[in-house]
Amino acid sequence: MTNENIELHDNKSKKLSFEIENADIKELTTLGAAEYFKREFPDLNHSFSEKQKCVCCMDEGTAHKDINGEVKFAFAGSGILFPASSEEERLKKVANILIERGVTNITSHGGCGAAGLAYHRDFPDVGAKENLAEKIEAYAKAWSDKLADKIKELGHPAERTHIMAEDMERPTEFHNARVVYFDGVGGFNPNKEIGLPMGFVIERAYLPSEYTAEELKVAVNIAFGHHGFGELFSSDLPFIIIALAKSGEELYKLKNEILSVLSDNENLSGGKIKVDGLTV
Ligand SMILES: [Zn+2]
Repeated sequence: MTNENIELHDNKSKKLSFEIENADIKELTTLGAAEYFKREFPDLNHSFSEKQKCVCCMDEGTAHKDINGEVKFAFAGSGILFPASSEEERLKKVANILIERGVTNITSHGGCGAAGLAYHRDFPDVGAKENLAEKIEAYAKAWSDKLADKIKELGHPAERTHIMAEDMERPTEFHNARVVYFDGVGGFNPNKEIGLPMGFVIERAYLPSEYTAEELKVAVNIAFGHHGFGELFSSDLPFIIIALAKSGEELYKLKNEILSVLSDNENLSGGKIKVDGLTV
């Protein structure tokens, strides 16, 4: 196929993939998250765990995946975008967060958007280099290898898992996330419930709010960009940020935090992003 034909084919499968979930998203939008989840997923609280064993990307393709039955901690690119003045400092900070969570399995995955951002952060002059996708995948793997080594150096066990792009719970060509789970409860694993709307997972309970604000912006950019559903979102079928909270008071705070992070996003003011939530 020519490039143009591939693009047409991708747009068609993207549209089909979008349509499959429309009935659920319509119901979620009409009922509101609290009522929708109470009706459709009454046992949602079983999908949260206080301790996690495995760190995986916030990407819906890994967040919705069962990885050896392990409880997962969602973290963009396994921490590759965490703010630090050097790689060494980033490794230490992220290793300590993961040790605190009980994480011993460090994953990386193919087609990682966070790793792509990190690659461009560290090699700003890269341009449209040949084999860029392979280079980014190798970069993602190398980061997770170094992270596992750092955890071991700090006296804790660590192993490595790489998830191939074709083994993710989403098409390799595009992101099919319709929502973001902005998790203020902690340790949300959407693969524990069958049929949940596909979504990025942001671990707001265990990561600093200045940082999760960045993850939220990344998720929104991916969803509305070339690799996401983009133009297919509308005010009738919006991209939904779902705050998950332990109490009504926390829910109110989380929703305001999300609104403030996205305050200058035109898709929010245009109604293509909806902020909703529920207590668990
Ligand atoms: Zn990723």
